Amino acid sequence: MKILVLGGAGYIGSHTVRELIKSGSQVVIVDNLETGYKEAVHPDAAFYQGDIRDRAFMDHVFQKESIDGVIHFAANSLVGESMTNPLKYYDNNLYGTKVLLDSMVANHIDKIVFSSTAATYGEPERIPILETDPTEPTNPYGETKLSMEKMMKWTNQAYGVRYVALRYFNACGADASGNIGEAHSPETHLIPLILQVPNGQRDKISIYGEDYDTKDGTCVRDYIHVTDLAQAHILAMKYLMDGKESAIFNLGNGVGFTVKEVIETARKVTNHPIPAEVVSRRSGDPAKLIASSEKAKKILGWNPEHADLEEIIESAWNWHRNHPHGYKNI
Ligand code: UDP
Repeated sequence: MKILVLGGAGYIGSHTVRELIKSGSQVVIVDNLETGYKEAVHPDAAFYQGDIRDRAFMDHVFQKESIDGVIHFAANSLVGESMTNPLKYYDNNLYGTKVLLDSMVANHIDKIVFSSTAATYGEPERIPILETDPTEPTNPYGETKLSMEKMMKWTNQAYGVRYVALRYFNACGADASGNIGEAHSPETHLIPLILQVPNGQRDKISIYGEDYDTKDGTCVRDYIHVTDLAQAHILAMKYLMDGKESAIFNLGNGVGFTVKEVIETARKVTNHPIPAEVVSRRSGDPAKLIASSEKAKKILGWNPEHADLEEIIESAWNWHRNHPHGYKNI
C-alpha cells in the first residue's frame, strides 16, 4: 500500500509517517516546508518539496507515484494568526484542498483522510462533545476546517472520493524515540511553552485566566498523544480501503485537565518549580473542550494507548530537553 502524506514534515504528519512505515506501508511525502522541517522527513519515505496549491506539481506527484490513498495534514493551524490573517487560511486550507481534490479526481485517487479539529465546534453546548453536536466555529481556522469537511462531502457525492475527517482535540507528546516532536515557530501551545521554563528559555508560564467556570478556574482541555492520533489515521485509511462510507470522528481521551493541572504535572515530570503567573484570558478560548471518542473506538477500533498525562508530558520533555531549539541546530 502506497500512501501520500501531505504535510508529512510537520508535527502530526511526521509521527503518522513513522507509524505508517512501521506498519509496512510505503510512504510518499509532499511538504512545502513552510512550517514543516526537512529533518522531520522520514529517511525511508520519498519526498517531494512543493505546494498543494500547485496543480501541475500535484498532478506530477500522482502521475509519478502510484498512490492508493492520501492523508492530508498540509494546512495552517494557528487560531490567533487565523484571526489576524484569515485570508491566509482560506488560501492554504480551503483553496489548497480544492486544488488537491481537483488533482485527485483527475488522477482517479478516491480516498482521503484529513485533519479536522475540535475548533469546528466553537463554544460547545455540552461535554463530552459528540460528532453530531452543532458546529459554530469562533475563528477562521475552525471555519476553514469545517468548510474543508463540507467540500469533501460534496466532492464525495459528485465524484465518489470518500473521506474520513478526524477532529483532533489537543495534540501533544512526542514519539518514544525522541527523534521527532513538536516544533512550532512561534510556539503557542501550552505544553511546549511550559517546558521552555525548565529548559531555561523562559522565566515563567502565563496562565490565560483563572475565572472560568471549571474546578480551579482555568481552562479544561482533552490532551491526546500524537502517536495515538497517528494510529487513528492508519485505522481510518484501512476503513476507507475496506470500502466503508465517508465519516467524521472525534479524537481525544475523553478526560479533561485544567491548565493548572498540566503545569503541576510538568513540575513533577521535570522536577522544576516552573513559576506560573495568571494573566487575562486569551480571546476565543472556550472554557472546556472534552471529546467523546466512542465513535472512533467503536467503528475504527481505535484505542488510545498513551492516555496518562504524566506519560504524555514525559514524552514531550524527552524531545524538548534534547532539542531545545526544535529541528534547528541538530
Ligand atoms: N494556555 C495558557 N498559557 C499559555 C498557552 C496556553 O494558559 O501560555 C491555555 C489556553 O488558554 C488553553 C490551554 O492552555 O486553555 C491549551 O491551549 P493551547 O494553545 O495549547 O491549545 P488550544 O486548546 O488553544 O488548541
